Amino acid sequence: MKFLGFLRLKCNLRVITGLHVGGGTAGISIGATDSPVIKVNGKPYIPGSSLKGKIRSLLETAYGLEIDSKLGRHECKKNTDPCDICIVFGRAAERKGSEGPTRIIFRDSYVNDELSDEEVKKREYTEIKMENAINRITSRVEGALRDIERVLPGTVFDVEILYRVYDEDISSGDLESVEKLEALPEPLKSRFGLILEGMKILEQDYLGGKGTRGYGKVRFENLKIESIPFEYFKQNGKIKELFRGSLSEAINK
Ligand SMILES: [Zn+2]
Repeated sequence: MKFLGFLRLKCNLRVITGLHVGGGTAGISIGATDSPVIKVNGKPYIPGSSLKGKIRSLLETAYGLEIDSKLGRHECKKNTDPCDICIVFGRAAERKGSEGPTRIIFRDSYVNDELSDEEVKKREYTEIKMENAINRITSRVEGALRDIERVLPGTVFDVEILYRVYDEDISSGDLESVEKLEALPEPLKSRFGLILEGMKILEQDYLGGKGTRGYGKVRFENLKIESIPFEYFKQNGKIKELFRGSLSEAINK
């Protein structure tokens, strides 16, 4: 299997309703919130694994794939030809067949100070919200209030997703000569398209915790998709911009 280069998708993720991606309470000082968001250098961030896991699980549901109860997600069985979701998002090493390495890499997403709303910046991107603890069996509101930290609406993150292209992703043609998103050869086009589709479903669903209480609505903006042929790393290739625009426009290509 031959490595041909990368497709790189860069975009912004705008928080529309309070977002809670949990950070665990280890190392939190007394008096701080019960349920902090995950942070780096004092600012919230979204781990690549959170975005990847959520998008994968939404696609599995959308395509009606069988969920492995042990894994808690779908994975094509060993010695079977994998579906495109398993090719793109990967399956466990011991199940892998001829599909080669997991194609997709989700980078951690950090706050974009320039694009985030001024008001949100002043408040340092998060707030502490009191939530009633609800007994799931009786649906009764219990006396105790818990506080939950969440990222404020108007916060914008930088997202970067890479697709590793192998010769097996291209039935005819090559990556280097592609000038536009719509000209991507198959099956690369449909496999890469899965990511865009998953992002679109995520906009209707939620990211992080407490989605059924209205948390975690996000929107993807300012998409830029580039191809970085392997030649680039040998210093005679060029990064090519294949697309710039909205998520809906990208899906329509
Ligand atoms: Zn599969």
